[in-house]
Amino acid sequence: MRYPLPSLLTAAGFAVRGNRFNCRCDGGSKYTGSLNAEKGVAYCHRCHHSLTARQLGRERGVNLPGCRIGRARIMRQRFRDWLAATAGDLSDRERRLARRAEWAKAALTSFSDMDSAWNCLAAWYHARRTYELFWESACDKVGRFWLYRSWRKHAC
Ligand SMILES: [Zn+2]
Repeated sequence: MRYPLPSLLTAAGFAVRGNRFNCRCDGGSKYTGSLNAEKGVAYCHRCHHSLTARQLGRERGVNLPGCRIGRARIMRQRFRDWLAATAGDLSDRERRLARRAEWAKAALTSFSDMDSAWNCLAAWYHARRTYELFWESACDKVGRFWLYRSWRKHAC
């Protein structure tokens, strides 16, 4: 059995008997639902409602791995694409901000009370920390793992 589907269903308040479960659409105890623990999917033949082990797990605050074996590989590829896109995006923004910060510094030598220039510099110093963190994480194995984890949380 790949997924603890029976216990997840039980925990969610469904009565389970073997590969059948008692769906909420059924007033009696006809066990109209069937479950496939290998695929991690439960399905009711009466109301056609389907539940996955992942959904049930999430309701209980448990994060189960993806439904298909190939999924991990697909997600890793998507993560790599995202990382490359984000890195490109960030370095563009970083360059733009850095250039503006240089202008701001030049402007401030002549006009020291120029608010927009101060704001520009503040934005740069603030953003630089974020960029540093990102580059550190992206270049480091452990950092990439944490980036991946937080990315996964938003991508699913
Ligand atoms: Zn049902």
